[in-house]
Amino acid sequence: MAHVAKRLPRFTGAAAWAEILGPRAARPPLTGSQGCDVAIIGAGYAGLSAARRLKQLDPALDVIVLDAARVGDGGTGRNSGFMIDLPHELAASSYDGGGEARDRQLTGLNRFAIDFAAQAVADYGIPDGFFRRTGKINGAGSEAGMASNRAYAKHLDALDEPYTLLDAAEMRGITGSDYYFGGLHTPGTAMIQPAGYAMGLALGLERDGVRVFEDSGVTRMESGAQGWSLTTAQGTLSASKVILATNGHLDSFGFARGRLMHIMLNACMTEQLTPDQVRVLGGEQEWGITPCDPMGTTVRRIGPDQGGHRIIIRHGSYYRPGMATSEADLTRAACAMRAKFDARFPALKSVRFEFKWSGHLCLSQNGVSVMRELEPGLLSACVQNGLGTARGTLTGIGAAELAVGQTSDITRHFTAEDQPSRLPPHPFDTIGANAYLRYKEWQSRRE
Ligand SMILES: Cc1cc2nc3c(=O)[nH]c(=O)nc-3n(C[C@H](O)[C@H](O)[C@H](O)COP(=O)(O)OP(=O)(O)OC[C@H]3O[C@@H](n4cnc5c(N)ncnc54)[C@H](O)[C@@H]3O)c2cc1C
Repeated sequence: MAHVAKRLPRFTGAAAWAEILGPRAARPPLTGSQGCDVAIIGAGYAGLSAARRLKQLDPALDVIVLDAARVGDGGTGRNSGFMIDLPHELAASSYDGGGEARDRQLTGLNRFAIDFAAQAVADYGIPDGFFRRTGKINGAGSEAGMASNRAYAKHLDALDEPYTLLDAAEMRGITGSDYYFGGLHTPGTAMIQPAGYAMGLALGLERDGVRVFEDSGVTRMESGAQGWSLTTAQGTLSASKVILATNGHLDSFGFARGRLMHIMLNACMTEQLTPDQVRVLGGEQEWGITPCDPMGTTVRRIGPDQGGHRIIIRHGSYYRPGMATSEADLTRAACAMRAKFDARFPALKSVRFEFKWSGHLCLSQNGVSVMRELEPGLLSACVQNGLGTARGTLTGIGAAELAVGQTSDITRHFTAEDQPSRLPPHPFDTIGANAYLRYKEWQSRRE
């Protein structure tokens, strides 16, 4: 059976997290005709975690990872770097959507992913600044946000989860901004430098014998008596098993068509703050704020251990079934982000945005992932929904375990899920989703 990729990933804007770490040597693309035991398509959270899990389970396995982009430049290098333990799905209408039992289960799984990442950081000597368990704050920018934090606190009480409520003065002490009415800190989130973490994983895996090829988009997969054959622009790869770790690009290979929501999210990063600007801003050197309303604005401050004194802001989303952001979409989103930034940091109006970029979030309407055997020898670790750093890590682990015939709580969790529910036909999906996104963004405009 053959699957031809309808499209390869297209990235709009800078791979900022990688750029601020300075120049690095490119890995060569796959060339000629090569072979391995397990081929992994996609060097993101899912693909790299799958490679690590395979090597843990069987160090003798010959594993190759292929990515259309450079490690750290693809989806995994384009997010805000919150590896969150508590469930808070973008697709859910409220934080307590799934019920307590499900929330406990998801929290346990997310914490397993964070521990797995922490162990990789320790084993591979990834710099500590690229992965810190500092927790995160749910920032409230309005009375509605405060009410939402109070409701969230009640939910955390029921789950017996620790948190700290912060008032406006405490928020100012952390962020240097007068904007926030209050906040709710939970300690379990790891804040990562997304590109630094991915590059560190890839280097560690290479030391374990995994081969990683960049600029190697897979355009075709075909199964035969000997296993699978993958085609890239310059080479072919035969493998007994294949793990597809391409998140929404599962659909580009013809799987789950009409069932995946492709949301393009946008972010900006400032230039480095000068010592004077750092002093004027005040507050702490590293913090991360997610909005009380998931459709609001995420803000993060980083320091020299992550690539310089900078502020990162994420806001604005478009539903794009073609999985690409136009320059016009990104320019519009960057203008909106400038206004959000200025409202929070009026003293930093002269600070430029050095980078703006867009990335891909893949949701299913019923919040499920696709982690299972799609066809004999073809495993999927895709469709991460809102919290893709943790979920991607989990689906990668699960697909690796299935590839070697193992089961675990992770494989049982994902293989028991329904398939993604069907969406309205095109163009009604796009019109409906974009109208909904614009309304929700307006509703959460203070958050
Ligand atoms: C602006 C923004 C902010 C976000 N913030 C957060 C956050 O703070 N926390 C969080 O948990 N999530 C966040 N996300 C979502 C998160 O980035 C994704 O869910 C996550 O990257 C998914 O991981 P993955 O490994 O499954 O896929 P990806 O990271 O997308 O990796 C898949 C890889 O597959 C490669 N690929 C695709 N097709 C092919 C092909 N045919 N051949 C070869 N390679 C291919 C791609 O190049 C890519 O590198 C954010 C997303 C965006 C856009």
